[in-house]
Amino acid sequence: MFDAVVVGAGPAGGMAARELASAGYRTAILDKKKIIGEPVQCAEGVSEFGLRSNGLQPREEWIAQKVAGAKCVAPNGKWFYITRLPGYALDRPSFDRWIVNDAVDHGATLRTSTRVTAVARHDGGWRVQANGESLDARVVIGADGPSSLTARQAGLVRSLEKIVAYEYRFRREDVPILDPDFFLLFVSRVYQGGYAWVFPKGDSVNVGAGGPIDGHAATVAFCRRFGIDVARRTQTIAGSIPYRYDLSSLAAPGLAIVGDAAGITNPMNGAGIHPGLFSGRIAGECAVAALGTEDPPAMLAYDRILRASPFLDPLLSEMIDRVRTWHDSFINSVTEELHGLDWRAVDAKVSLRAFLRKPWIVLHARDLLRMIRTLELCDRYGW
Ligand SMILES: Cc1cc2nc3c(=O)[nH]c(=O)nc-3n(C[C@H](O)[C@H](O)[C@H](O)COP(=O)(O)OP(=O)(O)OC[C@H]3O[C@@H](n4cnc5c(N)ncnc54)[C@H](O)[C@@H]3O)c2cc1C
Repeated sequence: MFDAVVVGAGPAGGMAARELASAGYRTAILDKKKIIGEPVQCAEGVSEFGLRSNGLQPREEWIAQKVAGAKCVAPNGKWFYITRLPGYALDRPSFDRWIVNDAVDHGATLRTSTRVTAVARHDGGWRVQANGESLDARVVIGADGPSSLTARQAGLVRSLEKIVAYEYRFRREDVPILDPDFFLLFVSRVYQGGYAWVFPKGDSVNVGAGGPIDGHAATVAFCRRFGIDVARRTQTIAGSIPYRYDLSSLAAPGLAIVGDAAGITNPMNGAGIHPGLFSGRIAGECAVAALGTEDPPAMLAYDRILRASPFLDPLLSEMIDRVRTWHDSFINSVTEELHGLDWRAVDAKVSLRAFLRKPWIVLHARDLLRMIRTLELCDRYGW
């Protein structure tokens, strides 16, 4: 009998387990992987704010390099700063292991090569089946990624819409379009609201594409266009990212669904590390409160906190639906007006200059204003 069982040892599960174990609760972390964090399924970008606001101080052992922010590049090569909030290219396997090991150092039990096959209510708590064994717990945290068995078995899933992301890793010298200090996001109609990326990572670079598209074909086409020889790749990475998940609730008495399992990724950029850290930490805190007061329904507070957070603001998914309809000529034209600037530089003067040069832009004023609100939200959210 455990106080808590955490299903999945990614960043979200690791954070939840850390909270529970450090509060002294008997916690088990179960993961089907043999080695935590491997194989990696990530471009490994996270903001400094995302780490620090969740109590993680950047550490050399899992930071590959620091970046000064991210730039958005239009099909015509013009660009603007999406964010100048600093961030990092992580070494994801080391990062995931460090969080989980911290939970273990606080007394949690880690079981690898342990696939959970059933989660059901049992005797006022939950029964988890894994590797032919039953584990009973008062609390279960579903941190089992985008195809979460826990969320389905708890009866919380209404619908799940995912996108694919595909990526190659190259040596730095093999990527001619690299910006050593910024993550580059290439937008175009071909990515249908997604994008292609070039993320520097110390001696290597992650280059990929994601969206409601064929990620593999888009990555190959992107590499060809920019003279990157795919034959020189050192690694291939692929996975799915939650795009729009509809869960009736993110919690039930004695249960919470966190990170990708709950679909808590930013639809604007697919980023899920910071949302995973945040939701895992909050779920852990709610579980500690529920266990402390022996009040399983207290876990429902987790659903309320997450839904009120910027991570699940409907503006993000509303806006990405609009972006999906934008043609390259429009993206090029707007980016020309912003070339080399931060979107924050859009004031009355910049707007007037753009309207005088391109009067048709007025027809899109509502979309553009909403996009500025969206970018503000993403900055507040800390990407
Ligand atoms: C190609 C790609 C690039 C990405 N790039 C970025 C990026 O640059 N920045 C960013 O912020 N996000 C990025 N993401 C998204 C990010 O990787 C995820 O949002 C993040 O990993 C979510 O963390 P998590 O802990 O919720 O889930 P995961 O990291 O998916 O962890 C879930 C864990 O659950 C385990 N599990 C699943 N089912 C079971 C089961 N039945 N029993 C036991 N264990 C189980 C899995 O083995 C896994 O270890 C990217 C995703 C992809 C696919």
